[in-house]
Amino acid sequence: MVKGTSISDPGRMRINDIINSASQGKDLTKEDIVQLLLISGRNDLDALFSAADDVRKIAVGDEIYLRGIIEFSNFCSRNCLYCGLRRDNHAITRYRMPEKDILLSAHYIRKLKVSTVVLQSGEDESLNRDSLCRLISRIKDETGLIITLSVGERSFEDYRAFREAGADRYLLKHETSSAAIQKRLRPGAPFENRLKCLYWLKDLGYEVGTGIMVGLPLQNVGMLADDILFMQKMDADMLGIGPFITHSQTPLANCPNGDPDMVLKVIAIARLVTKTTNIPATTALGSLSRDARLKALSCGANVIMPDFTPLQYKRLYDIYPGKSDDNTDVETFMINLHAQITKLGRIIGQGSGYRKQEIK
Ligand code: SF4
Repeated sequence: MVKGTSISDPGRMRINDIINSASQGKDLTKEDIVQLLLISGRNDLDALFSAADDVRKIAVGDEIYLRGIIEFSNFCSRNCLYCGLRRDNHAITRYRMPEKDILLSAHYIRKLKVSTVVLQSGEDESLNRDSLCRLISRIKDETGLIITLSVGERSFEDYRAFREAGADRYLLKHETSSAAIQKRLRPGAPFENRLKCLYWLKDLGYEVGTGIMVGLPLQNVGMLADDILFMQKMDADMLGIGPFITHSQTPLANCPNGDPDMVLKVIAIARLVTKTTNIPATTALGSLSRDARLKALSCGANVIMPDFTPLQYKRLYDIYPGKSDDNTDVETFMINLHAQITKLGRIIGQGSGYRKQEIK
């Protein structure tokens, strides 16, 4: 029986049954997932979060893995309606970090005993294959870090060259599996191409991360259920699940933010159905609700991605508002993070943090 629930009415019994089924490894239907996304009572929410936390503990353990991000360019040739880095946002100051600054940040990540660097940028057309390969090789040779790329849709040949140069992982969130929303909010970026990229990356042997935004305009719980089923089927190694956050310099400036509680529900259900994936407690969630990032660690998440971008660039990586408000230096952030993780009864993962093998 699900912890913390009574079975006083048929609706609650149904919720309990769905949660118990998922905890026991049975597949959920779209209807089951919609039922879980619609729950709002404290007891039912606690039951869902507690079940997800139990599965997290069994499937991936108590370790929380850290990935150090360097946001090395905020140029983007795309025009996604929700994003502050979109091509038509002329209010933003654009930058590309010089290679020497990127390397310094990578060394700093190594110094603070974080095993993975995430090199993130917009879809910057000036980042050609050779320059990125040189950067990847230098970071690998000089630091030995596990390298995650998050530089958007590229050709198969680019992905192969990056892999051969030393890249280990790739993040490419699909944002939504709804074709209608994709078409409206990501003009000129067909979903089929993103999907093709994700499968190329898998074929090339990358650890692959994908993920979604919760609370996008036009999105409903049925679409979120489809997203969760899509992520399960995709069998990605990492799932980034964060809220939509309104940016004043975009066409969606007047839309409401995503609901942090809905984000937590999606994280919990994703943990229940995918078991061993690595799921970050995203910075975006923390920007929307101060304690939601920690709550996410108690309902399925097992990864934190501290931002190692030097402050003069970090404040310009204005992908959504509030992201760069925390001017705490990363060393202080890490000290605070260690204390928070210890308080949760968890530990910092020391190894590579690759996805654990499937539990039987
Ligand atoms: S979401 Fe990504 S691809 Fe779209 S505008 Fe922003 S940085 Fe560019």
